[in-house]
Amino acid sequence: MSKHDKIRELLALAAADALTSAEEQLVAEHVRSCIACANELGAWRPIASELRRLPTPQPSSWLVQATLARAEAKLAEQAEQDWNRRVMIVVVAFAWLLTIASWLVFRVVSVRFGNWLEPQFGHTQFSHTQFSHTQFSQTWIGFAAFTALGWLAGGVAAVMLAIRQRGERRLA
Ligand SMILES: [Zn+2]
Repeated sequence: MSKHDKIRELLALAAADALTSAEEQLVAEHVRSCIACANELGAWRPIASELRRLPTPQPSSWLVQATLARAEAKLAEQAEQDWNRRVMIVVVAFAWLLTIASWLVFRVVSVRFGNWLEPQFGHTQFSHTQFSHTQFSQTWIGFAAFTALGWLAGGVAAVMLAIRQRGERRLA
């Protein structure tokens, strides 16, 4: 490959100021002695300047923004998942607590109910004469209230979760 052919390949880049200073020097030296290359470089100059006048794409700007948006979305998603997991843990823990407490309450009620039905086992502190119908009703009301409280807490947790998720969607 002759020096002329080598330089010709660099002319467009030279016009666009995209050469290293060593290459630029080679081109400058060659075009002083080669009319063909000087003409071609002259032809490239206006094209290169037109290209420079075009609005330069700014990949850094939109790429950074897109990356940030993606990262934020991922973080928000992760935060939501973490929050949902915490809510689920609380709800499950509460359900367990409720089950255990309900079982304890139910056992007490069963024992009293048994004593109330069968006075022959009632020669203890829970004899049918001491355990009145009012006391029995109060125990059941307490049990019902406790269960209702559990359902209410579960409902509140579900509503909080729904509100939270709607908020996340609005931000997104
Ligand atoms: Zn030449």
